[in-house]
Amino acid sequence: MLRNVKYQGTYLYNREDGKKKSQRVLLEKYDEVRNEGAIPAIVTKSTFDKVQSILDCRTQCRPNLNTHSEYILTGKLYCAKCGSTMSGTANCGGRNKTRIRTYACPNHSSRRGNVCDTKAINSLYLESAVKSAITEAINAYVRDKDNLASIVRQAKSSYREQINSTSRRIASLRDNVSHLLNKAASTTSALLSTRYEQEANEAILAEQHHTEKLADLNAKVAEIDVLIDASKEALIFTADALFASDSITRELVDLYINRIEIDDANDKITVKFKNM
Ligand SMILES: [Zn+2]
Repeated sequence: MLRNVKYQGTYLYNREDGKKKSQRVLLEKYDEVRNEGAIPAIVTKSTFDKVQSILDCRTQCRPNLNTHSEYILTGKLYCAKCGSTMSGTANCGGRNKTRIRTYACPNHSSRRGNVCDTKAINSLYLESAVKSAITEAINAYVRDKDNLASIVRQAKSSYREQINSTSRRIASLRDNVSHLLNKAASTTSALLSTRYEQEANEAILAEQHHTEKLADLNAKVAEIDVLIDASKEALIFTADALFASDSITRELVDLYINRIEIDDANDKITVKFKNM
């Protein structure tokens, strides 16, 4: 079920907490905040597959894709007033001189003559709102029973293909081993015999490797069944589980988010999802 729907939500700052505007934060439960675009939460199969592959990769130790990834929304965030991209900054503020990360409009600085009055926005709250929106989109996709069934079907058939090709490879490596050992036994040249034995040993190692891979693939198929049994109750990702590291977060943000506009004058944040 592929639907091409624009997914967009508008969130408002918490206006009623009595704080100064610069200290205001997004309500974490922004469902309760007036929401100008109903969020249809549509994710396509291919997007979901990409999410899965990102999640599958996270256990492997990958080098951090971007070392400056502390500001995960960099490049997606725009000032609604002047159109500039807003970038991450850190200030020490408050009585305790704690480090506060914000995203700020470059034109709201004395260096540029304060030509824009969009104030910096607290990055923690903005990031958490964006993460919640993405999590909600993914969960809505998974909760759809048809989608879940198709995810399962595709995952299983992909694993079965890999199981078949791995099994064929193991069989051919075994043939090769016996062939090489026969040649080693029947040759009169000690040099050739040694070489055939070495080649046979290499083939045996490769066979072992593929045998392990086969066991792993079979375990994964079994895991899917366990997962599906569990998901009959509820298969719901939490934001913490999805956004396990800055680099994963950055990838998911890139995958989902087209742009985020900060409209400081109206206390409005618009999260525009990619057309998926
Ligand atoms: Zn601006």
